[in-house]
Amino acid sequence: RLSLRGVSRRFGSVAALDHVSLDVPPGEFLALLGGSGSGKSTLLRVVAGFEAPDAGAVELDGADLLALPPHRRPVNMMFQSYALFPHMSVAANIAYGLKREGRPRAEIARRLEEAVAMLGLAGLESRRPHALSGGQRQRVALARALVKRPRLLLLDEPLGALDANLRERTGFELRAIQRESGAAFIMVTHDQAEALALADRVAVMDRGRLVQVAPPREVYDRPATRFVAEFLGAAN
Ligand code: ATP
Ligand code: MG
Repeated sequence: RLSLRGVSRRFGSVAALDHVSLDVPPGEFLALLGGSGSGKSTLLRVVAGFEAPDAGAVELDGADLLALPPHRRPVNMMFQSYALFPHMSVAANIAYGLKREGRPRAEIARRLEEAVAMLGLAGLESRRPHALSGGQRQRVALARALVKRPRLLLLDEPLGALDANLRERTGFELRAIQRESGAAFIMVTHDQAEALALADRVAVMDRGRLVQVAPPREVYDRPATRFVAEFLGAAN
């Protein structure tokens, strides 16, 4: 279980995160919604360890995440840009984190094969990222994030680069992969309909504050604030 308590982060006069408290149980798919600049990426970056909060606590299963450097946290983050290594093959990209952890070669090979099968990447192992389609790159980034078996995966607009059709299909596949992996996912999206369709719960941010965290139907039927109502209404 991920637990944030009173997490704040300022950049100059901007409160990117303003006393954010949030609990995410194991295996939950949480969609994080909010306008541009509302603090979504900052929230993920604080949990992943790329940004330190000014105040507050971040724990995973009772362990203090803030005391651990990013690569020691049982958390992984998938960036919108995918951030694949251009000079490495698909296989090397996916296996990178396991090699860095010093895993035995046989284990790396086994887990690589599992991840390739799970994401439908068989046959593409020796390609470089530039020779892949946008959707295939996205799968490689997801495979790279999942191969380390994080308890928590943070996804910042993972479907942003896909066209509407592929986006809908990939969203449902992502949900299936999440169930199979058993990891909790926090997914940032700009697409309200996508969040409502995929997530166990939806979290809505407004100017650094978490204004509502609830199952999709409840957020839709009983928006906590006028902002939430208008924000979700904008999708229809
Ligand atoms: P978007 O949907 O556009 O990606 P977001 O919800 O992810 O927006 P954040 O990137 O978390 O928003 O930014 C929240 C606020 O903090 C914004 O006002 C942003 O300009 C500011 N901010 C974020 N990172 C920095 C930084 N490194 N230095 C200064 N200001 C920052
Ligand atoms: Mg962002």
